[in-house]
Amino acid sequence: MVKSLRGLGDLGDVAGKTVLLRGDLNVPLCDGAIADVGRVTAALDTLSWLLGRRANVLVLSHLGRPGGESVAKFSLAPVVAELSRVLDMPVRLFEHTVTRAGLDAYFAGGARVAVLENLRFDARETAKTGVERLSFARQLAELGDFFVLDGFGVAHREQASVYELAGLLPHAAGLLVERECGVLEKLTAGPERPYTVVLGGSKVSDKLGVIDALLERVDVLAVGGGMAFTFLAALGHEVGASLLEVEQLERVRGYIGRAGSLGVKLLLPEDIVMADSFATDARTQVCGVRELTGSSLGDTAMGLDIGPVTAESYAREILASKTVFWNGPMGVFEMPAFAAGTRRVAQALADTAGFTVVGGGDSAAAVRALGFADDRFNHISTGGGASLELLEGRVLPGLEVLS
Ligand code: AMP
Repeated sequence: MVKSLRGLGDLGDVAGKTVLLRGDLNVPLCDGAIADVGRVTAALDTLSWLLGRRANVLVLSHLGRPGGESVAKFSLAPVVAELSRVLDMPVRLFEHTVTRAGLDAYFAGGARVAVLENLRFDARETAKTGVERLSFARQLAELGDFFVLDGFGVAHREQASVYELAGLLPHAAGLLVERECGVLEKLTAGPERPYTVVLGGSKVSDKLGVIDALLERVDVLAVGGGMAFTFLAALGHEVGASLLEVEQLERVRGYIGRAGSLGVKLLLPEDIVMADSFATDARTQVCGVRELTGSSLGDTAMGLDIGPVTAESYAREILASKTVFWNGPMGVFEMPAFAAGTRRVAQALADTAGFTVVGGGDSAAAVRALGFADDRFNHISTGGGASLELLEGRVLPGLEVLS
């Protein structure tokens, strides 16, 4: 839960001061170009707020997983170019070796925004030991007067630039973090009912915590994607070569039982698009869940999307709900042959009169890739993992230090 975050207004006068703005500019790159500028756009509100109050801003972010080393393809250079374009002002990229004097000289020349190179070029950013993280945070703290966390997507990470750094400087949550927390609090505090949660994606083990917590809170829980097969197997169905986490079967069986005793409507697929291989041009067949391995595709077929009957039933439930949270695609939406279930669910969220939240990561990418405009949903979270952890009722380290 989030208790009274310190907001930008609590920083006091920032004019002429340098603000370290930890954003989440971890944009998807394709051949060195930014494939989706969503995260850059999401950072602009807080940046504009700070610039409007005459602060100088040093933006901090990670990009990809360079593994603690300087790797050219993970440079923030494309982000710097995009920021400069949208802000219509010069923005310079600084190496980690930059000193406070060097930065001050840059700002003294009239520039207002700088970006520090990928934080994960330094292994201490994500180090396991607090001592190492603190040493990196101290180096960063030298560069500014204030700290603002606006990268909601990293708020659940105990990392140097998120957690330790906040403790070293006067700090606040940025506008994006405040907005994200406001929406998710609405879902945890008192959602309008019926409240439906749709979960998908590949791994059930990633979602166990949230399922556990949500069973107490939702009216309907609809499960799709690869994770649905562990549920189907728990009910005794043969799932062929579909994704299955055998070690989670007992736990999932327990959830099925608890949903029954709590009166939660647990929706599982009734039909599945089976395929003879994990490929765009695979042979496919829609099968009822009792005959997933009994089709002409044989018993090594794999389920790669929910079937049309299931998609329709989930859509009906979404359309009848007053609040809907969705995380995780219903199938391998990246391949057109297995995108229909995800598209139907996205369409229902776009059409329902209820309050809709799309929870980060792959589901946000999916709705955009399928051509839905952001404004068809009440909120698209910028943080998949962070939004799930907040829904679980967990305390996020990055937010705890801003309280
Ligand atoms: P996650 O990273 O757990 O959010 O899962 C997202 C990924 O799950 C997407 O890349 C989908 O392609 C994949 N996915 C969804 N449904 C299935 C499925 N039935 N089998 C395999 N992968 C799936």
